[in-house]
Amino acid sequence: MNIEQERKNRLKKMLNQMKEQILKEAREEIKKFQTGEKRQIVEAVMDDADLSVIDLSEDISLKQLSTHRDILKKIEEALRKLEEGTYGICEMCGDEIPEERLKILPFAIYCRDCQEKIEMIEKFESEEG
Ligand SMILES: [Zn+2]
Repeated sequence: MNIEQERKNRLKKMLNQMKEQILKEAREEIKKFQTGEKRQIVEAVMDDADLSVIDLSEDISLKQLSTHRDILKKIEEALRKLEEGTYGICEMCGDEIPEERLKILPFAIYCRDCQEKIEMIEKFESEEG
């Protein structure tokens, strides 16, 4: 197995662990809705139905589920990119983003150098008005 493949496997494992964690948390939230109308909403949400149901709701728990779902989507996207070989690659300079950084920021799309450059430009632009 080459180094690329090993890195890919480690990242995949990391993302899958995150996914399991989020799913676990989401299931805990769902448990709070064992009966009634809300349960149906929750099931609809987890079934990848219309997200607008959530937006209409003021319920904090439902909003949390919505957040879980957004993260899950990001993880799925990351896993897909990983298969394509584009996950963990800086979109600016094309360098590999170090695994240490991805562990902290799994959805980072820039390496640290580029991120800093972008932040500097943004800061500069906002100061210029
Ligand atoms: Zn970069």
